[in-house]
Amino acid sequence: MTGQKITGSNQFEIDHLGIAVRSLDAALIFYREQLGLPVTPRETVEQEKVNVIMLPAGGPRIELLEATGPDSVIAKFIEKRGEGLHHIALKVPDLGATVERLKTHGARLLNEPRAGAGGHLYVFVHPSSTGGVLLELIQE
Ligand code: ZN
Repeated sequence: MTGQKITGSNQFEIDHLGIAVRSLDAALIFYREQLGLPVTPRETVEQEKVNVIMLPAGGPRIELLEATGPDSVIAKFIEKRGEGLHHIALKVPDLGATVERLKTHGARLLNEPRAGAGGHLYVFVHPSSTGGVLLELIQE
């Protein structure tokens, strides 16, 4: 490996791409029926007010996100911008160390690490720090 040596830098990996949709059932007509991707069971993440379906696509997955209510961040996102790419999720080897490093450099984090779908830890980094894309950092 070449490049800058930050501990574990070769262990970063795209985990999933999060897509905000109005309806999981409607989205599955395309992704499952027409495209033919496999589908994992639907899961509800109460604290984010979303229903989630993961579609394995090689290593990374596509995450379909549907709001569970009008006050969900996904509902607000769709209201403002319509359906579409909502975030990119990057797996990191040591979330605590990454969060500390980002805080030191003034990156804008939207939450402290907490457990999400599947029990993994995650934080969101605001688009103002990442080049305009909401970035989810996760550690399994
Ligand atoms: Zn996600």
